[in-house]
Amino acid sequence: MRYLIGRYHEVALKGQNRWRFTAQLKRNLIRIMSDYRLGAIRSEGPRLMAELPDELDDLTAIERGSLLFGLQNFTLSRSVAPELKAIESEVLGAVDGTAAKSFAVRTRRENKRFPMNSMEIDREIGAAVKRALGIAVDLENPELTINIELFTDRALVSIGKHPGPGGLPVGVSGRAVAMLSGGIDSPIAAYRMMRRGLALDYVHFHSYPLLSRTSQDKARELAAHLSRYQGRARLFLVPFGMLQREIVARVRRPLRVVLYRRFMMRIAGAIGAQVGAQAIVTGESLGQVASQTLDNMQVIERAAPLAVMRPLVGMDKNEIVEQARRLGTFETSIIPDQDCCTLFVPRHPETHARFDEVEAAEAAFDIQRMVSEAVNNTERIELTFPPQG
Ligand code: ATP
Ligand code: MG
Repeated sequence: MRYLIGRYHEVALKGQNRWRFTAQLKRNLIRIMSDYRLGAIRSEGPRLMAELPDELDDLTAIERGSLLFGLQNFTLSRSVAPELKAIESEVLGAVDGTAAKSFAVRTRRENKRFPMNSMEIDREIGAAVKRALGIAVDLENPELTINIELFTDRALVSIGKHPGPGGLPVGVSGRAVAMLSGGIDSPIAAYRMMRRGLALDYVHFHSYPLLSRTSQDKARELAAHLSRYQGRARLFLVPFGMLQREIVARVRRPLRVVLYRRFMMRIAGAIGAQVGAQAIVTGESLGQVASQTLDNMQVIERAAPLAVMRPLVGMDKNEIVEQARRLGTFETSIIPDQDCCTLFVPRHPETHARFDEVEAAEAAFDIQRMVSEAVNNTERIELTFPPQG
């Protein structure tokens, strides 16, 4: 029998919280592997143990395990009879064909009555591996680590350890909508909040047909990539061009971006309310571009009907780019497209918007109508991972 054994990232969680944490992690595991029939899933102390079906290959299991927020790391372990011969043949089968040049065996004994102690087992199995493969033992810095765990009724053998994404299981912290522009920052903002346990849906504003469809395609691709961590998410594509035209007709150029943004907040908030979200996540970072000043952020936030979360607010661009590369969103994010917010705005937008001025400019609009029109014309896309069919 083969298991995925995960170690929890934040083990300091206690009492009721701990139970919620492990229950959510189990649900997420089932969802992320919903194209396979998993066996029993148990939570034992600091770890989660799931029986894997034979048709699920190791590579896929590793790929899926690395999507499970809440896991510090995990192994794929096989159980064999708790006897030296059985352990040895399992280990030799598992390391066969490895390219590693050094290895170490690490045994942990739960069953202290086993006739050999951990070091003796390390030595026996180590000698067998050395004979079979001719590679060297290196206890300090092995390329390959063979882990053996001995229980009364079985032994578990695993090779190496795979990093989990850490954080908290998606869903334990509630739900939010993430504003996804198609740029570099917003996917990272979304990722970081998911990692803190927030379940996300995505909202993208586009100015099609005034601008091309590219931004929508990018948003779809990015949202699909991010939804792998969650199993299921919705992407809301909001047509924004008509609303922008109304603003253009009545508002002087420098203030337009701030007004666009305030409308985005209202619309994202209205969509969020429909899906039970408690917050809006954005990729803003203080001072990164002229429009992201403290003054502007405050004026924009005042239009938001939900709490605004800006996980990147204190990060600089290099750090964000590095994360985007690691997450695998960078290449999509840099595909050239036209940002809807640059439509009909000057090169030098207002950097220190004043609330009274903005409010006066908005007095000319039927805000309710504009928001509900945009919401009503929004296209909703259901994203599922693994893909169905
Ligand atoms: P990003 O790299 O995420 O595009 P940015 O550096 O371009 O961010 P801004 O254009 O000021 O910064 O946008 C700030 C945030 O506002 C974005 O991170 C995103 O959360 C939100 N946002 C901007 N434009 C859109 C859009 N068209 N659709 C949805 N959200 C948007
Ligand atoms: Mg952008």
